[in-house]
Amino acid sequence: MSIQQNLKKIQSTIPDHVILVAVSKTKPVSDLMEAYNSGQRVFGENKIQEMVEKYEELPKDIKWHMIGHVQTNKIKYMASFVSLIHGIDRFKTLKEINKQAKKNDRIIDCLLQIKIAEEDSKFGMSGKEASEILKSKEFSELKNVRIKGVMGMATFTDNHEQILSEFSFLKTTFDGLKELETINFKPEIVSMGMSDDYPIAIECGSTMIRVGSRIFGERNY
Ligand SMILES: *Cc1c(COP(=O)(O)O)cnc(C)c1O
Repeated sequence: MSIQQNLKKIQSTIPDHVILVAVSKTKPVSDLMEAYNSGQRVFGENKIQEMVEKYEELPKDIKWHMIGHVQTNKIKYMASFVSLIHGIDRFKTLKEINKQAKKNDRIIDCLLQIKIAEEDSKFGMSGKEASEILKSKEFSELKNVRIKGVMGMATFTDNHEQILSEFSFLKTTFDGLKELETINFKPEIVSMGMSDDYPIAIECGSTMIRVGSRIFGERNY
């Protein structure tokens, strides 16, 4: 099936309130243009350098999401245009994003990455750490970042029950944090669900899914 057919198929099966991020990492700009031409405007990349190169080549109404681990020394390259940064796993990263956002005279939206998988290889903070950040004075002073919600990645497994329980845990964590809403914490987004598990994620309350291979085919690294 073509990229266009894959997109149509996914769009027609997800509810209207769920945003589809087309994860285009490793894929050539011609593939992104094919998705763009069938109406897709939100793209996710996991390497800052690659995202910057694609941003420069492609139409300017694309919303670029950084979904990978954020290296603080590279934030400056994406600060002028990035639309949402999903993988915030420590306060230090937020501080640097705030600094670079300020230089660009804008507010950058971010999500806190919560660790929900068993695997040690996956990044993320606990719900408790997230709430400590959101309640802190240091965070309230960051005028150029806004936390819009949470992001998580389930364990890579065929075990449906386990994935269901990890996604439910993320939704519960999000619901618990919601009451901490402030001027720079506007909880609206639960980013969870990828090619193999997005239907389960939606069942558990996902509002944003990040789908790569189901749209663009397997990645060749
Ligand atoms: C690569 C990636 C995805 C998409 O993975 P697929 O299985 O190809 O859909 C989603 N989220 C993150 C954080 C990723 O790195």
